[in-house]
Amino acid sequence: MKSFVERYEGKVFRVIEKFKLLREGDKVFIALSGGKDSGAAGYVLVKYVREKGIDCELTAFHMNLGLPSSKEVEEVVKEQAKKLNIPLVTCNVADYGVDMAKIAQLPRPICSSCGVIKRYLMNKIPREMGATKVATGHHADDFIVFFFKDILGGNFSWIAKFTPLLPGKGKSIARIRPLFWVGGRENKEFCDSIGLPYLEDACPYAHLERGKWYEIVEYMASKQPDFRRRMMIGIAKLAELLPEETQTLRECEKCGEPTSTKVCAFCRLVQAQKEVKS
Ligand code: AMP
Ligand code: ZN
Repeated sequence: MKSFVERYEGKVFRVIEKFKLLREGDKVFIALSGGKDSGAAGYVLVKYVREKGIDCELTAFHMNLGLPSSKEVEEVVKEQAKKLNIPLVTCNVADYGVDMAKIAQLPRPICSSCGVIKRYLMNKIPREMGATKVATGHHADDFIVFFFKDILGGNFSWIAKFTPLLPGKGKSIARIRPLFWVGGRENKEFCDSIGLPYLEDACPYAHLERGKWYEIVEYMASKQPDFRRRMMIGIAKLAELLPEETQTLRECEKCGEPTSTKVCAFCRLVQAQKEVKS
């Protein structure tokens, strides 16, 4: 009988193969947050590339958010990159004009602002450094939570993006999510089993919005056998049926990064932050 670690790696390997997440010659930046999910994603990607002998360059990438906990987070990311035996690129969001303490005071949810900042820099920096893809630790529970939220919010077209491989377009770099078929609890068990260090609560704001949704997913999984796998198969099929977004991307008037509006969400956020009193 296969061990948990073997079964887990097998599931992630199958996602990499079925959805063709890696190609010869790829330069993949693995976005590490210091948590269990991205740590596990990085570990399995590295293992896959080494075992299969694929000509693929893997680099760890971390954005220091400038929060009180960020130093400690960066230290854990350094330990993870060392264990993965890959180089690490770090950046400070402060160098791009972001002050999280001020962003937290804006009359908009901090998690959505933080998401704007991370998506922006996770696209800009790896692309400028020659990456072809960015890998994240998004996993089945994340997609199930987003799925319910988008159904409730009527944002059906967003579900089209719920796939393990989001192809790149113009200045938007391709994104891969190898943990599409595994959940948060499995990622934790995997990191604990292989001795990969991670922080439990890397984000001091995490409890504000998202916590309850993950508890709901956990509850449903406890009541309905095979809930995660069946939901993910259904979501992936639905994503294929939905039409691709027709929004045309252009370049932000201020910074030149891809956006669907005149000025991108990141530039608007930094502008709004300037108006917050210190
Ligand atoms: P989150 O939006 O915090 O759930 O994070 C989703 C994914 O984004 C994680 O699994 C990581 O791959 C990546 N990520 C989040 N925060 C950071 C960070 N500070 N630096 C690099 N990657 C990050
Ligand atoms: Zn911009």
